[in-house]
Amino acid sequence: LPEYAFIGRSNVGKSSLINMLTSRKSLAKTSGRPGKTQLINHFLINKNWHLVDLPGYGYARVSKSSKKTFQKFITQYFTVREQLVTAFVLVDIRHEPQPIDLEFMQWLGENGIPFSIIFTKADKLKPKAIENHVDVYKNILLETWEDMPNYFITSSSKDIGKDEVLEYIEGLNENMELDSKT
Ligand code: GDP
Repeated sequence: LPEYAFIGRSNVGKSSLINMLTSRKSLAKTSGRPGKTQLINHFLINKNWHLVDLPGYGYARVSKSSKKTFQKFITQYFTVREQLVTAFVLVDIRHEPQPIDLEFMQWLGENGIPFSIIFTKADKLKPKAIENHVDVYKNILLETWEDMPNYFITSSSKDIGKDEVLEYIEGLNENMELDSKT
């Protein structure tokens, strides 16, 4: 089955987003404590695709060795990635583009891994500020990328962006089914 991977810095709101997308509050556990999602979890959605929950990266207060373990997991996942269609890189809409996120996107690009950006916690900013923050991202990304990657603006607490993300995924799934039939 096709896979879609979700990844981002610890505390970016990944568990909350996964809960929103799956609409099953008990499926992925959220917590106010960063760095809790440690291993790779797969969730079967609509019986036709897998949502892959990758470990959060860049949490300052974990040891060097556990950082290495995270990195190894993540790199291994992306190296094999047979079923991966696209990755979703989550970034907190409130913050300026962070080097670790930009570097990670760069790495995905260099390895030919398609990705979209999911801006999280949009309820924390006014619409105008959201627009400004997205523009800052665009300007920085367009220094290295030809086009702005596909992106979504979401809020798990206000249920924003859920349909857009799910429809995008279903659309890619349908395209692949068509491709495989021709
Ligand atoms: P993870 O570490 O990336 O899995 O992040 P969590 O989903 O556990 O969220 C980290 C913190 O951010 C928690 O305190 C959440 O309640 C909060 N949070 C997550 N998503 C949202 C959101 O859309 N809006 C707001 N206001 N807070 C959020």
